[in-house]
Amino acid sequence: MAASTDSARRDPREAHRKRGATPSIEGSQSNCFNKFHKASDHSILNHTLEEVKAFLINEEELHQFDDLTKVNPVTTATVLKCLQARYAAGIFYTSAGCTLVALNPFQPVPNLYSPDIMKAYHSASRPQELKPHIFTMAEEAFRNVQSHVEPVNQSLIVSGESGAGKTWTSRCLMNYFATVATSSISVKCQENVERIEKRVLDSNPVMEAFGNACTLRNHNSSRFGKYIQLQLNRSQQLEGASVQTYLLEKTRVANQAPLERNFHVFYQVMKGATEEQRLEWGLSEKEEFFWLPNADKILEEDQFEETKDAMLHLGIDSCTQDQVFRILAGLLHLGNVRFSSPTDESHPCDLKEKAKYFLKRTANLLKVSEDSLLEELRVRTIIAGRQQQVFKKPCSKIECGMRRDCVAKVIYAKLFDWLVKIINGSICSDSFKWTNFIGLLDVYGFESFLQNNLEQLCINYANEKLQQHFVAHYLKAQQEEYTAEELEWSFVTYQDNQSCLDLIEGNPTSIFSLLNEESRLNRFSDANQFKTRLQTVLASNHCLSWNVFSKVPNFVVAHYAGKVNYQIEGMMEKNKDPVPPELVQLLEKSQDTLLKELFPVGDKEHNDSKAQNKAVTVVSKFKGSLENLMCILNSTTPHYIRCIKPNMDCKPLLFRSEEILSQLEACGIIETINISAAGFPIRILFQPFVERYGLLKTDWKLNFKTAASFNGCCPAKKRKGSSGGSTEALNITVQDILTNVLAGQTVAS
Ligand code: ATP
Ligand code: MG
Repeated sequence: MAASTDSARRDPREAHRKRGATPSIEGSQSNCFNKFHKASDHSILNHTLEEVKAFLINEEELHQFDDLTKVNPVTTATVLKCLQARYAAGIFYTSAGCTLVALNPFQPVPNLYSPDIMKAYHSASRPQELKPHIFTMAEEAFRNVQSHVEPVNQSLIVSGESGAGKTWTSRCLMNYFATVATSSISVKCQENVERIEKRVLDSNPVMEAFGNACTLRNHNSSRFGKYIQLQLNRSQQLEGASVQTYLLEKTRVANQAPLERNFHVFYQVMKGATEEQRLEWGLSEKEEFFWLPNADKILEEDQFEETKDAMLHLGIDSCTQDQVFRILAGLLHLGNVRFSSPTDESHPCDLKEKAKYFLKRTANLLKVSEDSLLEELRVRTIIAGRQQQVFKKPCSKIECGMRRDCVAKVIYAKLFDWLVKIINGSICSDSFKWTNFIGLLDVYGFESFLQNNLEQLCINYANEKLQQHFVAHYLKAQQEEYTAEELEWSFVTYQDNQSCLDLIEGNPTSIFSLLNEESRLNRFSDANQFKTRLQTVLASNHCLSWNVFSKVPNFVVAHYAGKVNYQIEGMMEKNKDPVPPELVQLLEKSQDTLLKELFPVGDKEHNDSKAQNKAVTVVSKFKGSLENLMCILNSTTPHYIRCIKPNMDCKPLLFRSEEILSQLEACGIIETINISAAGFPIRILFQPFVERYGLLKTDWKLNFKTAASFNGCCPAKKRKGSSGGSTEALNITVQDILTNVLAGQTVAS
């Protein structure tokens, strides 16, 4: 292998060019780089950087760059310019090495996802030669399963900030798989598969109705994370699917930020209920519900019929649906049960005007005793001493409100989990019927508000984990592999977020471990004390700092995507997420069969206060479920789609450079492009390579057996140490062949 020059060491792209490994050898799209390439002399080596730059300035051509690895030089400015030109030209997908950048058009794009387009990508002999699209990724994943690429199971990881288009993209991908994974089967068989396919797709409107809400950043914001595994049988047909959800933002049921809304389903019921149901559920149009803010915004709430139809397809009959909606109506009424402080503190709080009516309604709809409901909301039961003596203590007005919210949150969360269980029961196939899966991950993006608390810490932690997965799988693994193969390579620096993860979840001490310690101590948690603990125990971690100008106890975490200021007040309590046992016992006694199912008698998790002290905290549960997810992702071949939100106002075709830049930087896209551009973007197993290009080298006498045993193009296998052949043999031979190709030698057909 030729010795590298100094300039090649400095600029990885230079090294790439010197090696002559132009990306157009395999799988390149026609673009203006290629035009430039052809117009000259089959090589860009003769062109100075200035010429390439000058070419880049030719804005009329910029939109033709299908792959950002071909932009030269790769800087945030050039990448941004290219994306802007493409966006203006109505081109929303651009390859960035192993990643696909998806710009949200914020308006329907005719025919972008039509059956004809699906067909074009599915039937293309080389889909990567078509325009970049989410279907290119989808098709690649689908074919990987077929060709048993290791690991054979696939994951499409869709990331981006709120409103960037993750859910939209996931839906389109599901449609694609549902279409292509059924297309080749017989009519008789198709009936059966179509049912499954329809049910799998029907899980979307149901989960979105119950788990999405209108926020300031997105009118259909997912308030939970989702990983859906599409199960394929040996013939690549869709057998079923399973859904795993993460951390539903249940506080939204009882607390909506100004100008935001509750979960869609409440508005759907309110708007879509029949007169009869309205009467039964007490949902008069004149009624104003605290927990139904901004109901006058015209959004998608007339999707009630769609939600009901989808529920029906998933096996939730109309009787059970009525039970669900009645419970939701009960929660709306519960939100109007407001308290006022009593004149004598030894007495329970009074009910505010009209609250008695709402209390009665709630009790009727939830089928619990009205008196008991009032008692449990206003009076706390304390069991103390060895004798387990029972004391009753009236709650303050604030405590009463918290207990009311707590009832609503626990009911809604249980209802959501029940729904997911029903969906899984309906769409999940028997394990012996399917052999492989394609997973779609759609989780909430990185969040940083003026006020951030435990929810944001968990969400941002999830994003750190995904970023680490990306770094480990792509940036790190790729470079380590080059080093292991002793390839000429100048190291590209990238941001490793391990110390941030250590700070949040590490052992023995981290923010999570300290939060859990606080929960176990079962004492009143003081925010200032907690801050002091953080300062003494974790100060050495450079990702932790403090906002000294803030008046409230806080800590700042330097995430890979930026610094976030977290307020400590309330964080410990949220982590414990306590539900007073007496409220759970009340729900256990409900006469409603669905509520009975949600709150089975004697459920240890909620029923006694001792068990609650030992109960798994929010962060432990979340950490556990994320670790499971990471195990699954690590066992799959990943494909990354980075959704970008072109402007915060969600306006069609408005490209705000600064906002986009911060998103590109946050996901390390420049490093990704640099590594992809400078590295070896095309990997072909040795044998197919030899079969395809071997005839270019007439004096080649390589033993085919040795060649076949070499698996240098498959990093996973190589890392396991199973490589049998000679790295040198591959490099020299490939290099020779590439040189011949670049020199313009014709391939004899
Ligand atoms: P969140 O994290 O808040 O759930 P998200 O990334 O899932 O956000 P989406 O709900 O998928 O964002 O997208 C926001 C909106 O952007 C969609 O409701 C839709 O109006 C629009 N949108 C997204 N992608 C596309 C697309 N490819 N074509 C047309 N419109 C789109
Ligand atoms: Mg979403």
